[in-house]
Amino acid sequence: MAAPFAVGTKSLKGRGAALAAAGLALFSVGQAGVVSNPLPDGKGGGRDAASTYGAAAIGERPFDLDWADRAADPSLLSDYAALRSRARVEAGYRTLVVPKGSNLTDVLIEDGASAEAAVGAVAALGALAPLDEVSPGTTVDVAFAAASPANASAGDADARLTRLRFYGEDGRLLTAERDAEGWKAAIEMPEVEVRYAAAASTIPDSLFAAGRRAEVPREVLSKLANMFLYDVDFARDIRRGDRFEVVYEVRYDADGTMLGTGDIVFAAMTWRGGTRARGYYLSSIEGEPAYFDVNGQSARRMLMKTPIEGARVTSGFGTRRHPISGYTKQHKGVDFGAHSGTPIMAAGDGIVEQAGPFGTYGNYVRIRHQNGYETAYAHMSGFAPGMRAGARVRQGDVIGYVGTTGRSTGPHLHYEVTKDKVALNPMTLEVANGRQLDGERLEAFEAERARTDALRGAPYAVAAAD
Ligand SMILES: [Zn+2]
Repeated sequence: MAAPFAVGTKSLKGRGAALAAAGLALFSVGQAGVVSNPLPDGKGGGRDAASTYGAAAIGERPFDLDWADRAADPSLLSDYAALRSRARVEAGYRTLVVPKGSNLTDVLIEDGASAEAAVGAVAALGALAPLDEVSPGTTVDVAFAAASPANASAGDADARLTRLRFYGEDGRLLTAERDAEGWKAAIEMPEVEVRYAAAASTIPDSLFAAGRRAEVPREVLSKLANMFLYDVDFARDIRRGDRFEVVYEVRYDADGTMLGTGDIVFAAMTWRGGTRARGYYLSSIEGEPAYFDVNGQSARRMLMKTPIEGARVTSGFGTRRHPISGYTKQHKGVDFGAHSGTPIMAAGDGIVEQAGPFGTYGNYVRIRHQNGYETAYAHMSGFAPGMRAGARVRQGDVIGYVGTTGRSTGPHLHYEVTKDKVALNPMTLEVANGRQLDGERLEAFEAERARTDALRGAPYAVAAAD
């Protein structure tokens, strides 16, 4: 996503304003499917956050959870789909989805608009923006002059297309409206109201399954997984009964139509059967939004543990019998099994030393990081644009895609970490944590943290040491 709907300081300003208007906060879910609005200003669940927090005997049990104990107000039960469609109906719209292989004109005609109206509306819009913006899956709101949607069915003589609107991928709202002179189109950047949704759940099997059950949107789960890539090996560290919590932005336009989700403002997880736990707060204290733990330590590590999403380790670091040559040799990296085409991320900020075909490594990228560290990525199917020696990459940038080039038995990422040219085990590596906020910055962070805690209903209990 681009501009104002993506992570950006702009959205964070909106966050402060919306937090002030605490009544707007929208809380959802938990495994029980209940919604709560546990705000401390009397408008919410009215729960005593301090006492819940104080009751946690930190470190005594593997991890003390205040998450499960949220006050729940069933009257606030709602789901986004319902909210979204209600707002549209109130605004006189019904919605169409542009199917793959179709285009806006055809979709409008199929829905009952005359060819003249559909062509007119699309021509007016097309004069303002290239309509390849209407990608498959785009939801288009349409309004007909007919008294009710039922009358506006295909072929009904009363059905007269009068208005339509949809959001482009960059978040701009495109509208077309018919008046006496014909179709008028407009593009605007809509006012966005930010609300918050929260979910917490145990994890019976995988984070994604648990998240789907708790109705956390897929893109939020994906961001959540990315936040913990430094800490958690999702293939091996998640045990039945581990937990996650997430608080994230949901953006609405002035009509109350949900535009989509925004940043995660807080997330916490336990892993390895609750013996490990961490929570991270979003803060804009250093200009760019970034995550910090409860003590103001940056979540950022110099190198990610797993530079690929949703992969499992298929071959660890150390001695093994090579699957092709049969020789016993040191495996100088870790292999992650993943589908061909899965994006591979730069494990840390750095400079590309080498990018291209490299013997048995196949398509290969090596990146130089700080302090003598290097990472290498092998067997790729292809490279991200701009991958060449000397290119600068940032942690999390996509550098290429999983493949099986070079000496390889199937699609996987071979990932190596070296320090001063000596191979290290990426999975046990503890590389330089991010920095610790102090002084005025720490105070400012603590103020932000308190606002987020108000959304959660309680401060995050400091986890058992890990
Ligand atoms: Zn390997």
